[in-house]
Amino acid sequence: MVFFDVVIIGAGPAGLKCAQTLSNTKYRVLVLEKNSQVGPKVCAGGLTGKDLDYLKLPPELIDFSYRKVKLHVNGLPFRVRDDKDFIYTIDRKNLGQWQVNKLSGVKNIKIKIGAKVSKIDKGFVVVNKRKIGYGFLVGADGSASIVRQCLGIKPKSTNVAIQYILPTKGYQDLELFFDSNLFSAWYAWIFPHRHYVSIGCGANPAILPADKLNSNFKNWLDKRGIDVSGGKYEAFAINCDYQGYRFGNVFLAGDAGGFASELTGEGIYQALVTGEEVAKTILNSNYQPRKINDLLTTKRRHNKVLKFLIECGKFRTMVFYLGAMLFGVPFFKKKAIGLLG
Ligand SMILES: Cc1cc2nc3c(=O)[nH]c(=O)nc-3n(C[C@H](O)[C@H](O)[C@H](O)COP(=O)(O)OP(=O)(O)OC[C@H]3O[C@@H](n4cnc5c(N)ncnc54)[C@H](O)[C@@H]3O)c2cc1C
Repeated sequence: MVFFDVVIIGAGPAGLKCAQTLSNTKYRVLVLEKNSQVGPKVCAGGLTGKDLDYLKLPPELIDFSYRKVKLHVNGLPFRVRDDKDFIYTIDRKNLGQWQVNKLSGVKNIKIKIGAKVSKIDKGFVVVNKRKIGYGFLVGADGSASIVRQCLGIKPKSTNVAIQYILPTKGYQDLELFFDSNLFSAWYAWIFPHRHYVSIGCGANPAILPADKLNSNFKNWLDKRGIDVSGGKYEAFAINCDYQGYRFGNVFLAGDAGGFASELTGEGIYQALVTGEEVAKTILNSNYQPRKINDLLTTKRRHNKVLKFLIECGKFRTMVFYLGAMLFGVPFFKKKAIGLLG
């Protein structure tokens, strides 16, 4: 049986950031990715300023940057402007390839694609019927994490997000649509990219069942006259249920750990941060993962806002209107961007 000091399952943002942080250390690291290509993932590819500060992405990797966002509440348009860009779009394949390139030539890191982990046991994982031993195991394998399942952690709160990817350059504005009757406390989005646009929405199935979300989304597309016939439909879970990240020598990062925001559905930043913090904990068992604690504080705030919006019931539309109007007041705009960023 081959043995690696650290086996990371999943080459998404979390797994690759974890590997990058373990680069050029004494640990021999293996990243296992089930797909034949690193990067592509069902995702709208929306980033905020904090992602960019963290990633230090070269500008050519950013599809579009925005300092102006269009909000719609029940069809009524509002504009949010800041004096600098605060929302960006990026293609997930490009992000993945950029992260992988950072690891090329690093001697202690090996990435294996087409390597689906089918079983996990104490001290080894199974890939294509072969056992691979590990000292530390990192579950960075997304919302349907096999590592999390093996730890016996059942997700209590998994959001579902759906989108159409339309191969068009016909959309320029980044837009968010709040419609309490269709999307409850959540929203629909239009996120333009260089070669396509992502148009989607998401919700927690416990509040808005997936079939209802789908039919409401279709109604909304019809109402806005958006023709999705040439597009690709995609749907995926977003695990928002955090129940711990460290279980002896096994760690969970990113969506596997349930770090994504249940309010916004955002999880790329959380994946990057937790991937790094898990690696630092492996390098030093006394390491205090301050950034994970900060993430969890923000997550609790998001949950409070979401709970409030859900409890607003029929008054939710009023709250959305009020929120959209407050975006015109610099103090509240700063607070709101701070809450998200
Ligand atoms: C429709 C939609 C839109 C979204 N839009 C946004 C957005 O605009 N902004 C944002 O920040 N977040 C968004 N998210 C959330 C975001 O995509 C995730 O939070 C993020 O990808 C989590 O990163 P991760 O590294 O934890 O997991 P992932 O990106 O899911 O990566 C996990 C990797 O593990 C691999 N894997 C899984 N199982 C195995 C196995 N058994 N063996 C080997 N490999 C395995 C997978 O192939 C994958 O490459 C969106 C999600 C959805 C569904």
